[in-house]
Amino acid sequence: MAEGGVKITVLGSGTSSGVPTIGCHCAVCASTDPRDQRLRPSILVSYGGHHVLIDVTPDFRTQALRTGFERLDAILFTHEHADHIMGLDDVRPFNFRQRAPIPIYASAGTMAAIHRTFQYVFTGAGIVTAIPQLESHILNGASFDLYGMEFVPIPILHGQAQIYGFRFGNAAYLTDHSDIPEASLDRLRGLDVLFLDALRHRPHPTHSTVEHSIATARQLGARRVFFTHICHELSHAETENNLPPHIRLAYDGLEIEVA
Ligand SMILES: [Zn+2]
Ligand SMILES: [Zn+2]
Ligand SMILES: [Zn+2]
Repeated sequence: MAEGGVKITVLGSGTSSGVPTIGCHCAVCASTDPRDQRLRPSILVSYGGHHVLIDVTPDFRTQALRTGFERLDAILFTHEHADHIMGLDDVRPFNFRQRAPIPIYASAGTMAAIHRTFQYVFTGAGIVTAIPQLESHILNGASFDLYGMEFVPIPILHGQAQIYGFRFGNAAYLTDHSDIPEASLDRLRGLDVLFLDALRHRPHPTHSTVEHSIATARQLGARRVFFTHICHELSHAETENNLPPHIRLAYDGLEIEVA
């Protein structure tokens, strides 16, 4: 385990449209509880002076300024949906500060989609100061070392698509899933901290619900569980009142020390 421990910062806990949702006046969108204001879903994993980002949301710039981290050492992608990749151009200031490319990690399919979406970044023809400097690494499912910590890609089902969650040390981040294959469940034992998708109460074809993720949490027995990718149908305070004490809703800015 990395020296000095591992800290997770929740950069965003919201679903793809964010909360409040544009044009909506529901109780959650109008709520004054800051925990009901959710940027798009992402976490920062910090250890040994390094910062590893999981997903780069359209809110990335705001998230980086709010959190105040001044280094970015690697980016892992869970999948290629817009709410998980569209902030990628905004990593440029880290290139300028660090004077080096940032390694990015994704499955072959996700990497291809990122190269298509940000074609101008990868043609080799862009002006260096105008485009992000990135170094692409394709994940084949094997675990990999980043600055002394092992990251394990965990296959999860996002509707029909298989995407990745990640385990690192005694923590795992599983966003955007409707189900977790049996073989992946076996790789999620003995966790201190587990993040699970919990969009809302009503069923959804590609996302987990509060009830389904409570069942997953019970099955895996993680010490602490945080729900994320939350839509405007869930009020933070009201939802937490009905959850067991070791299961909480994540919120933007939440910091967790992993044991
Ligand atoms: Zn998403
Ligand atoms: Zn709303
Ligand atoms: Zn998605």
